[in-house]
Amino acid sequence: SETIGANFRSVVQRFPDSIAVIEAATDRSFTYREVDYATDQIAKSLLAMGYERGDRLGIWSPNCHEWTFLQYATAKAGVILVNVNPAYRQHELNFVVSQNGMRGLVVAPAEAIGDYPAMARAARDEAAGLQDLIFLTDDAAAPVLNDTFGEHELAWADFLTLGADVSDDDLAARAASLTPDDPINLQYTSGTTGFPKGATLTHKNLLNNGFHIGELLSYTEQDRVVLPVPFFHCFGMVIGNLAALSHGSATVLPSRAFKPDLALEAVQKYGGTSLYGVPTMFIAELALPNFADYDLSTLRTGVMAGSTCPVEVMKKVISEMNMSEVAICYGMTETSPVSTMTRVDDSLERRTQTVGRVMPQLEIKVVSADGETVPRGSAGELCTKGYSVMTGYWNEPKKTAQAVDEDGWMHTGDLAAMDEDGYVRIEGRIKDIVIRGGENISPREIEEFLYSHPDIRDVQVIGVPDEKYGEELMACIILHEDREPLDADGIKAFCSGKIAHYKIPRYVQIRESFPMTISGKIRKVELRNEAAEALQ
Ligand code: ATP
Ligand code: MG
Repeated sequence: SETIGANFRSVVQRFPDSIAVIEAATDRSFTYREVDYATDQIAKSLLAMGYERGDRLGIWSPNCHEWTFLQYATAKAGVILVNVNPAYRQHELNFVVSQNGMRGLVVAPAEAIGDYPAMARAARDEAAGLQDLIFLTDDAAAPVLNDTFGEHELAWADFLTLGADVSDDDLAARAASLTPDDPINLQYTSGTTGFPKGATLTHKNLLNNGFHIGELLSYTEQDRVVLPVPFFHCFGMVIGNLAALSHGSATVLPSRAFKPDLALEAVQKYGGTSLYGVPTMFIAELALPNFADYDLSTLRTGVMAGSTCPVEVMKKVISEMNMSEVAICYGMTETSPVSTMTRVDDSLERRTQTVGRVMPQLEIKVVSADGETVPRGSAGELCTKGYSVMTGYWNEPKKTAQAVDEDGWMHTGDLAAMDEDGYVRIEGRIKDIVIRGGENISPREIEEFLYSHPDIRDVQVIGVPDEKYGEELMACIILHEDREPLDADGIKAFCSGKIAHYKIPRYVQIRESFPMTISGKIRKVELRNEAAEALQ
């Protein structure tokens, strides 16, 4: 067991001249030695600014190389990095800043999504603890900001050199004071089911999980891992950065926010060997009109995770994207994140139908509502225990006690079944199960079936209120381009005789898009509210 900083140093020693980070937007790349140097500088700047072990520094930005640098620099300095969702607006930013007593915030340049600098300043006016604002000035934003810097405000370039007088010995002394059990990251959950919760995670939590993921994907210094997934989320920062950078692989940042064409362009241009995404990202990539034009021949593996991975999509990723070794990971922010994962030598069926089996050195179990372990094959709530479980929700002992029981089991809120060999199938969130006339229906199996319809690009099945049955099923559908709209009769005809009659959606809603979290998950709560309204 070691700290993230100590682990990174040992990788730098082994692969000093290998590329660690490639940023497609600027076409820049950085070797391990360069990242080590830059992150030392940043860690020294934090020391010079008086940041103590355990102080909180936020980052509020889409993906960029500075994000990776800050992840490692804060780990070296023992400062807790707080991931702030770049989609947040004022109200949410204010909440996060004060909830964890953040001392400094690294802020993205002003961009289309909102005026980050202005909102950061407003947040500082609200929150007593927040002092330092560090602006990630790109060339376009620099002149504007430079004129207007106030007290405790600085540009990234100046931040980099602030610690010039701090010695290597000072930094080494700080490193020596850190332990693997120190919290190093505060990661907020996606907010799929409600307001995000801040999971407190340690070096040990994150580094072990990232390392094991990299092992199971057989990462080496030959790999180039393309990451269209967000860094503010554990998918980018752990499954992505920590897995790759603990193995000497290169990370590739295709764009700030996800764009399907830029993701595939990055694979082609930089020889990506591994590609990540939530299912909706892969669906969007496969649906690109010029999909066949991209050279994806360098790909061998990747990770699909975050929400239920439709079998049809997995199969296409394997056969059409050349990702024969792609893995499904299942996990949650609170467990650093990955609890189960498919293995390269699993059968195709297991790699498409299950989320694999438990990660090395972790335990999982499936329990009934009264907490008893259910027989193999039966459904219940999945629970995880071991090194990966968070120390708790930041400053929320009550919520922590609801999630992690006295024996250390994290209760995931996900409905799952484990087979005789330990392979786990996720049915979805317990709260998303539709109860129609007393019958528990898992939306997932209906979604899986509807994916086989040639006109359907993406589909979500939800429950809507019904006087007779309590709930009725609705299929919310996004069609492939230029298809005739489907209606309830069309869906009924397609399903009749192939799935049980009570599972055939009564309502059909054709949509252009689904309400999503910025980590690419579909917000079924919102979808249900919209659908219920539309039916009135
Ligand atoms: P919030 O907790 O704020 O409502 P969230 O649960 O979406 O949001 P995350 O921690 O990002 O926040 O996501 C964890 C959840 O994502 C899991 O509990 C599970 O429901 C879902 N999930 C992750 N991976 C998979 C997968 N491979 N298959 C099915 N579901 C998955
Ligand atoms: Mg959750």
